Amino acid sequence: MIPWTLGLGSWDFDLDHFTKALTHMASTGSSFSAPPFQGIATFGRCPHTRVLKGVDVAILGVPFDSTVSYRSGTRFGPRAIREQSLLLWGYNNALGVAPFEQLSAIDFGDVDVIPVDVSATHRAIELTAKTILDAGSRLITLGGEHSISLPLLRAHAAVHGPMAVVHFDAHPDTWDEEYPGYKFSHGTPFRRAIEEGLIDTSAYFQIGIRGPTAGPQDYEDAKQLGAQMLVADDVHSRGVPSILSEVRQCLGSRPTYVTLDIDAVDPAYAPGTGTPEVGGLTSYQILQLIRGLRGLNLVGFDLVEVSPPYDPSQITAILGANLAFEFLSLLALKSRGH
Ligand code: MN
Ligand code: MN
Repeated sequence: MIPWTLGLGSWDFDLDHFTKALTHMASTGSSFSAPPFQGIATFGRCPHTRVLKGVDVAILGVPFDSTVSYRSGTRFGPRAIREQSLLLWGYNNALGVAPFEQLSAIDFGDVDVIPVDVSATHRAIELTAKTILDAGSRLITLGGEHSISLPLLRAHAAVHGPMAVVHFDAHPDTWDEEYPGYKFSHGTPFRRAIEEGLIDTSAYFQIGIRGPTAGPQDYEDAKQLGAQMLVADDVHSRGVPSILSEVRQCLGSRPTYVTLDIDAVDPAYAPGTGTPEVGGLTSYQILQLIRGLRGLNLVGFDLVEVSPPYDPSQITAILGANLAFEFLSLLALKSRGH
């Protein structure tokens, strides 16, 4: 039975029945007692609040896309992902966990971004993330483009020190300067993070890398900086279990941050992104890869580069919402001691 039915089966409006149904919905306290198309969209229908007392996980939006190298639109990502998250019914069958029940999760809303000022926006992201982490909550951030990972890594590293990083992407994002003289863009965050000592480069994986580059130097630079690169070909030829076993063996109990650029997934499954590359992961492979991180010491997550203007049937935002749900599920398993 669907849990939200009001039972209004006919036009003979039964006020008594209606009142009882509303009272039942209020008394169960479940946000799933309303149909998914009703109300204001928060992630997973979690309460929108900035009160962090007792909160296990905060979902944070960063509607920022000012540094992209090609087509823009990821400023609309958090809103689209929230909307598509309304249909997450709440139980993760693959992992056997109900994260919205297991955890106290909130939708913190969005960072106050300043589209014309990258460094001011990065400062706002770092401060907002710090506020959440200092309150003892975990953070799942929805972008926005990939430059936002740098301030997020800064905030998490301030708590955990240099972290292992699992970075899903079609691109290494380790350029030095995308535009001469400009160090901060969505093509540079992981070089900056390594320079700043935020990443434990003995445990930094890039997974899903592919596509044409200007030359072999892009990949060589990333590897020289310390990235262990598992290109999309590796995932396809070796299979997900082999990739996971290599990654898990290296990560062990290290604090691990997960950053997921949706363009790691093939544009057949995730067309709504700014710099798509063919030959990527399937939506099933990315689900398996995320679920395969269960039990690790996961300290933070971001999901970036969903660009709704290129997502006419919302499949990219649907995938984004489900991947964020998988992140939440991993945290719920962890809180249960698995
Ligand atoms: Mn990318
Ligand atoms: Mn990226």
